[in-house]
Amino acid sequence: MKRKAKKYDYGRCEICNTVMQEKRISQDFWIRKKLIVVEDVPAGVCPNCGEKVVKADVGRWIIRLIENSERIAKAPRISVPTIKFDIKEATF
Ligand SMILES: [Zn+2]
Repeated sequence: MKRKAKKYDYGRCEICNTVMQEKRISQDFWIRKKLIVVEDVPAGVCPNCGEKVVKADVGRWIIRLIENSERIAKAPRISVPTIKFDIKEATF
């Protein structure tokens, strides 16, 4: 007998104890000074404070993705602004 796939229960937020909601997120990683973005990652997101958690198997799969240099070489590029924090020009 087949059952409908049950939604994974992310439980409550470790920080503020709000019930986590499943969302698809973009997760960024710095690998050897290069920024890699993994899109559409299923994750539990806290609607209150924004804390994010991923399941262990999702985390393992992300590691395989970001270590796949062939796949990364073929991945589309985005350009992002990079701004230097210059303490000399800062006014607090
Ligand atoms: Zn929270």
